[in-house]
Amino acid sequence: MNKLVLDSECLNGILENKPVSRHDINEIYQNAVKNPNELFSAAQILRKKFKRNSVTFSKKAFFNIVNLCKDTCSYCTYKSEPGEAKLSLMSKKQISELLVLAKKYKCVEALFVTGEQPEQRYQEARDWLKENGFKTTAEYLIHSSELALETGLFPHTNAGNLNYEEMKELKKTNVSMGIMLENVSERLTQKGMPHHLAASKRPKARLEILENSGKLGIPMTTGILVGIGETMNEIIDSLFAIKQLNDKHGNIQEVILQNFQPKPDTMMRDEPSADEKYFKLIVALSRIIMPKMNIQIPPNLSPRSYQSFLETGINDWGGISPLTPDFVNPEFSWPEINKIDANSKKAGYDLKCRFPIYPEFFSFISKELRDKISVIENEEGYVKEKYWR
Ligand code: SF4
Repeated sequence: MNKLVLDSECLNGILENKPVSRHDINEIYQNAVKNPNELFSAAQILRKKFKRNSVTFSKKAFFNIVNLCKDTCSYCTYKSEPGEAKLSLMSKKQISELLVLAKKYKCVEALFVTGEQPEQRYQEARDWLKENGFKTTAEYLIHSSELALETGLFPHTNAGNLNYEEMKELKKTNVSMGIMLENVSERLTQKGMPHHLAASKRPKARLEILENSGKLGIPMTTGILVGIGETMNEIIDSLFAIKQLNDKHGNIQEVILQNFQPKPDTMMRDEPSADEKYFKLIVALSRIIMPKMNIQIPPNLSPRSYQSFLETGINDWGGISPLTPDFVNPEFSWPEINKIDANSKKAGYDLKCRFPIYPEFFSFISKELRDKISVIENEEGYVKEKYWR
């Protein structure tokens, strides 16, 4: 039946569950540059087959625990230097207060974000840890995650390159964790490229963290950053690297596709935003490469057109906060949840609030965490409406 729908033999094969090769994807991409309609149709067929008519999001509060960072990425406005107005060094009291407020706002996820091992570079970070009674940022995150659970929120930590033991500890309280692969290209770490001054973004280092998450059975969020000077081949390599990890361990719960937006106080301030047509091709190719994957774009980074990405294969809007800004993209506020709900509906999709772990990964977590989820979970494994609306 698919043969009647699509002319491309390659795409028809994929719709019939044939494994997709690197060569197929190159061919599909070359054809899609001339006319993307067949690619979008195939992505849409797969999306409907595996994700039906829902689109999900996670209602979260963003805890900007510490934004000092030992690395420097050319596009990053999140990182702060000591003395800057945007510096964040959250005290235990501030974390507790925000947790209580987040609960009041019916948030479900506590997103804990830090810069890369700040204590290795900054005395200010070491002093801050000491004042709060910790030696490392990871120890502080373990404590904060316990507090979140006690308050009734589910922690999801994104703190850069944590080591195996740190991740193992955090798995006890975090229902999932995150680390962006960004891109698997070594070229982007060379002089003059965006990851040159960021040792933690070396592809080998990132892949090792993801490999460790697989060994530990942690439901993992990862993704790529699109539009930072990469080639299409490097994007496709990165998507295949994620696919390979997931084929091996089965623990990648979602792939974020983030479109680059230049920030005024960064080295890449004069670079153009990721082109939307190019970005949409990448979204659709991701669905073709990983048909069953949860694929996410952040709606705040495409404020005028995010709903049109539903036609290219995505099934998730990521974490959205009614309470805190997106500290990574502070100039792009999240659309109101009601608006996202209405726009998703208009496009033919039901908005559902998920936990920071997708239902198909519930078997990865401990009984204690699973029991906590079950208290507010509906029959589909999403959050009951009365706990988030
Ligand atoms: S993107 Fe992450 S690693 Fe890079 S400078 Fe910003 S906080 Fe540091």
